[in-house]
Amino acid sequence: MTAPINDLSRLCVHTMTTKPWSLEECIAGYTAAKIPAITVWRHHIEPIGAKEAGNMLRDSGLEVVSLCRGGFFPATSGQAREEARAENRRIIDEAAEIGAPLVVLVCGADPEIDLPTARQHIIDGIQAILPHAKAANVKLAIEPLHPMYADCRSAVNTLDQANNMVMALGSEYVGVAIDVYHCWWDPYLRAEIERATNTILAFHVCDWRTPTRDLLTDRGMMGEGCINIPEIRGWVEKAGFNGYIEVEIFSEEFWAQDQEKLLWRIKNAYLRHV
Ligand code: ZN
Repeated sequence: MTAPINDLSRLCVHTMTTKPWSLEECIAGYTAAKIPAITVWRHHIEPIGAKEAGNMLRDSGLEVVSLCRGGFFPATSGQAREEARAENRRIIDEAAEIGAPLVVLVCGADPEIDLPTARQHIIDGIQAILPHAKAANVKLAIEPLHPMYADCRSAVNTLDQANNMVMALGSEYVGVAIDVYHCWWDPYLRAEIERATNTILAFHVCDWRTPTRDLLTDRGMMGEGCINIPEIRGWVEKAGFNGYIEVEIFSEEFWAQDQEKLLWRIKNAYLRHV
């Protein structure tokens, strides 16, 4: 049994978790709640631009853990794949500008492209943007997504596939992001986490609701679903990860609530169920 987290020093919240808030409101809210770290979604940078966002974040004293998200490499035409790479280079620049050391990749998929071909597009795409990432000193994390998203969000659906890509790419600038929502069901998860030793760049938590009412926006609060988060955290830490634990919850239900109260719920759930 893994010991529970007993303080907030490793807690990070994704701005998408408090989607109704602007970046400015996220910064003020997290700071007031004594949450030390933030992962920024591009959605929250768009209205003000990366430069202004970077200034606000540096002034806030919050640790910027990552920028979400890059990826979406597979496409039916060579030109579209090239555009995706260019877009990812811009995302890497944005990460550098806001002080994020990491871009999380939702790698992409297309129902018109078979999965093995899509995975090759992903490897080729990451390979193509790697020099840009190195030059900007921004790492890239491949996040496997639950197989229910294999049609149009990601052809990388298991940690095994992500680990294989990290091996094939062979760069210290590429690792994996492990999200309990996407990986909890995988019978090989423990072994694959062991295999990912020292390449785990991010760890995302929430919970799996039953029933799940929406495939995208019905994630649960830690402790209200069926994922054994402390067990998975124990495996991840045994594999050398000691970074921030990121609360990433897309939930129409929570977005409709008072976001300040939501942060209190998150802190309580984090202390008890992570
Ligand atoms: Zn995630």
